[in-house]
Amino acid sequence: MQSIDAVSKVGGTAALEKALAGEELTYDDGVQLINEENLFLLGAAADQIRKKLAGNVVTFVGSYYLNYTNVCAASCPLCAFYRKGDEQDAYTLSTDQIVSRSKMAIDMGATELHIVGGFHPKLGLDYYENMMRAIKSAHPQITIKAFTPAEIFFIARLTRNSVKEVLSRLKESGLDALPGGGAEIFHPETRKKIVIGKCSGDEWLDTARQAHELGLKSNCTMLFGHVEKPEHIVDHVIKIRELHKKTNGFTTFIPLKFSLENTELEQKGLITAESPSTYDLRVIAVSRLLLGNVLRNVSVYWVALGKKIAQVALSYGGNDMVGTAFSEEIFKAAGKATGTSIQELAGMIKEIKREPAQRDTFFNIIKRFD
Ligand code: SF4
Repeated sequence: MQSIDAVSKVGGTAALEKALAGEELTYDDGVQLINEENLFLLGAAADQIRKKLAGNVVTFVGSYYLNYTNVCAASCPLCAFYRKGDEQDAYTLSTDQIVSRSKMAIDMGATELHIVGGFHPKLGLDYYENMMRAIKSAHPQITIKAFTPAEIFFIARLTRNSVKEVLSRLKESGLDALPGGGAEIFHPETRKKIVIGKCSGDEWLDTARQAHELGLKSNCTMLFGHVEKPEHIVDHVIKIRELHKKTNGFTTFIPLKFSLENTELEQKGLITAESPSTYDLRVIAVSRLLLGNVLRNVSVYWVALGKKIAQVALSYGGNDMVGTAFSEEIFKAAGKATGTSIQELAGMIKEIKREPAQRDTFFNIIKRFD
């Protein structure tokens, strides 16, 4: 990877010079970087910022994915996971099943349950509250990171409660943090092509804001590599940055590469191939530069990127590998290999001569590896 001096010598765009000087980038700067900048210079600059903020350590969490239902009232063209409810493989887990899966998670070494599901049209708020209480009562040591802002918004609408009421009741029942899914791309021009029946970008952001104000930290994501315009990437990341300035509530930003297989976007021929790795790395590097000093962590999700490109992405601004993703179902439905071991993730990080560290949900380091 080239040094910062090399970047200056070769000569990047004015926006890259600004990023390297530590100045906050504007929307126009971001558009210039994503459309025009040399990929390797982008990577070198993003890597410098990463190093300044996070050093050589690459973190990950021992996480178990628990998808409580695949029944969904929405029908997003980007999704290979959802079912309408009467298919043979439609399912909804009972509280007992969820508690026994939590025990499996702990036995596998997970410190976090990552719980997300479809927008089930018939489950009341008590289902979610009972789920939280039952897990916490059986396994108080595990952190529950559950329900994306999009799910919270749906549950609030369905149960005729305010978002704040839903969040408060779930927090009282044991919810510790929120995952960052459902953000997709905020810009309505792209969003209307990839989601149907899900909250708007503004509603997602407002739900995350309310969670943060109640003391619930959350991840944030961006699904890229489908029908978005590069400007919509920039718009999305800046919206995340600006909300984080107000709430300090995001733990990490996770750019998620879109997986094509079995989605309506594939079946209708709207997209015929997944995005090239050069584009993926460009998006990750530009995200790192746009977030600047405001949000410390950028996670590379090896499940979506593939393990090899995830290793490369750690030199394009990434300082975290998300987690072990035990039992992941959503990307699996779109044809991706999921689930790895703590040892394998640590090994992948060591291979690129960085320092692996296992963290908790809130980015506290709990284990280092020799
Ligand atoms: S992306 Fe989420 S909300 Fe959309 S159809 Fe799939 S499970 Fe439902």
